Formats: sequence, C-alpha cells, structure tokens
Amino acid sequence: MKHTFGPELAFATRAVHVGNDVDSESGAIKRPITMANSYELPYDPTEMNWSSAEGNLYTRNGGTNQKYLQERLASLEGGEDCVVLASGVAALSGLFFALLQSGDHVIFSSVTYIAVYRLLNELLNHKFGVETTIVDTSDPANVAAAIQPNTKLIHIETPGNPTLTISDIAAIADLAHQHGALLSVDNTFASPFNQRPIALGADFSIESLTKYINGHGDAMGGAIIGRAEHLDLIRAQSQVNLGATISPFNAWLIMRGSVTLPLRMRQHNDNALAVAKWLEQQPCTRFVAYPGLESFPGHETAKKQMAPGYGGVLSFGLRADHDTHNQFVSHLRVITSAVSLGHDESLIVFLGEYDERQYLYPQEFHNGFFRFSVGIEAAEDIIADLQQALEQVGLL
Ligand SMILES: *Cc1c(COP(=O)(O)O)cnc(C)c1O
Repeated sequence: MKHTFGPELAFATRAVHVGNDVDSESGAIKRPITMANSYELPYDPTEMNWSSAEGNLYTRNGGTNQKYLQERLASLEGGEDCVVLASGVAALSGLFFALLQSGDHVIFSSVTYIAVYRLLNELLNHKFGVETTIVDTSDPANVAAAIQPNTKLIHIETPGNPTLTISDIAAIADLAHQHGALLSVDNTFASPFNQRPIALGADFSIESLTKYINGHGDAMGGAIIGRAEHLDLIRAQSQVNLGATISPFNAWLIMRGSVTLPLRMRQHNDNALAVAKWLEQQPCTRFVAYPGLESFPGHETAKKQMAPGYGGVLSFGLRADHDTHNQFVSHLRVITSAVSLGHDESLIVFLGEYDERQYLYPQEFHNGFFRFSVGIEAAEDIIADLQQALEQVGLL
C-alpha cells in the first residue's frame, strides 16, 4: 500500500518515512537500490523523448533512488519540488547554468563556498557574459544598492562558509521580488533541520548533501529545492545535458543517512554551542565566530531565522604564530584535520593567512583561523581534546 506523509507530520517523522515505501515486488520494507543504468522501453519507443527527465529511461535522465531522495528533501525543505545532483557544486552550477543568460546580472554574497566564487567571479562572467557583483549581504541595504534592472538572481549563503556571516533571508527575498529577481540560498551550514529558506521567502534552497544530510562523510550529492517550473528547466538542462546525475548508490546512502538528520543535528547544535562557549572563555583565543553566541554580529538575525539551533560549524582564531597552529592540530586525537563538514566526526581545517578572498572577510579572519566542524562525539571529549592540544603547545 502506498502511504502518504504530508506536511501535517513532524520533521522527524517525515525524515523517516517520506520517500520510503514497501517494495511492491519483494515486500521488503525498505525500497531497494536500483543500480541498473537503463530501463525497459515500451512496445513502441520511437516517439520517446530521449532527453526527458520524466519516467524511467536511462539513469542520467533520473534514477529511482534519486527520485525517492527528491521526495524526502522536498518535504523536509517545505518546497514543491527537488532535483538531486552529483554534488553540492553540481547543484549550484546547475542552477546558474539553467537560469542565467548572457547579459543577466547576479548579486552574490562576499562569503560563499569557493566554487561559487570561481563560477560567478571567474567563469560564467568571463566565458558567458553574465554580469556579477560581490556584495556583503549581511546588510540588506548593500543588496538594495547593488540591484540593477537586469538583476536576475541573488545568491546568498547563510551562515556563510567559512566566516559564518549571517544574511537576512526574508529581507533579501522581499528586495529580490520587488525587483523581479529570484533568491537562492545555500542552506548547507544550517541544514533544513535548523533553517528553511523557502518558508522565509527564498525561491531556491541549495544543499550540499555531502555534509549534514548524508552526515556520515561517505557520499557526495547536492540538491536544489524550489518550484516545479524552475526545477523542470534545471533537470532538462543541467541534469540530462550537463550530465551531473547522482549515482544511485550515493542517492541510497544519502537517503539512509538522512533518516537520523534530526537526531544528529540536535547533537551538532548542542556540541557546537558548548565548544564555542568554552573557546570564547580561553585567553588564547582571538575570536570565536558562531551564530549561537550572543557576541556574534549576526546573532539577532540568526535567532530570527534559525531554530532550534545554529548548526555544528564554528570558526576561531588563536593568539599564536603560523607554525603553532599546525602544531596544535598535530596534537589533536579525537578531532581530525580534514576538509568538509557535517560529518559524524569532528573535522578541523587551518585556513591560514593566504586565502585570496581574505579581503572580503571581516578583519579578524586576516591572521589565519580554523574552521571547525563540531561532530556528534561527546562534547566533553571534544573540549578535552582541544584543551590537551592547547596545553601541549603552551597556549593553556
Ligand atoms: C561543501 C559545500 C558546498 C559544495 O558541496 P560539494 O558536495 O562538496 O560539491 C557548497 N556550499 C557549501 C556551503 C558547502 O559547505
């Protein structure tokens, strides 16, 4: 029997049930992985559209595991439709490719994932004549001042990677819509558990599924959630013709990981707040950036649009020279030095003094800093690990 799990059900219930069903062939209570890359054709296939993303034809045009995951994510984000692609960057570039024409203008946040900066500041502008403006979107007035008659899209990331800068989604959505532009929000740092951009007025919510939604650090994927009219275009152009389709196995892994998103996010939220408060009290820290701290500049806006928590990522700086930062990391035992975030395990990365985009960051980020993805281990073990490593390098 096909069950429906509507928006009247709680987030945690939908994270378990939406997109899953009893397999009609075997009676298995979990839908199977379909690794076949091709599906049987109808009696007369000659009138089929080989570029169609509807129905089951060829896995680049859409596979069953991808579709199950899309159902779940559309529900969790509160959107009409969802496209799942091979990575978060595939979702971002897929959105830009399908939506933008040469001569269109895009405003984007000064703090974004590095590939967004490359795409909009180096590639789409120079190769395809898309006009782009980098704006500190933490103040909506800066966005208002940058809007032009040809502004087609405003793209913000909040919290922004890696400074955690907060932008006001509802205020920027109003501005975009007053001027006939669309708003996309990279929601990766918050995850739909803590923030739902579409309910706040955004046209698109983008997720790197590689991070919290999968949550186990073992698969890559990306999603765009929005209205069907836009997503049909993205499917036709960016999935079928650019070929950024997710592997069925990765879609299945992410589906499996997403079941525990609410449980994991609660732990990430609690742990990160505890770690941020502890770090803030240490004399050797120069600054701690975490939206849940009252000292953080974006805290009031974050409180308005993020609930029940502020996610698991924070950044901080130490009063130490370059090499002491690396020594500190080499003494960590529970926390691993690696990029990425939103994994079960705590990950830290020293971002140094040489980032080419540093001029776009607040002043305290100019001397080298850590981005720290606080995992779901016990908070006391994470704090003890930081403490012993700081002691080893003579900072505590
Ligand atoms: C990691 C990340 C991305 C890119 O996602 P991939 O799955 O690595 O392609 C995009 N945005 C943010 C905020 C990220 O942290």
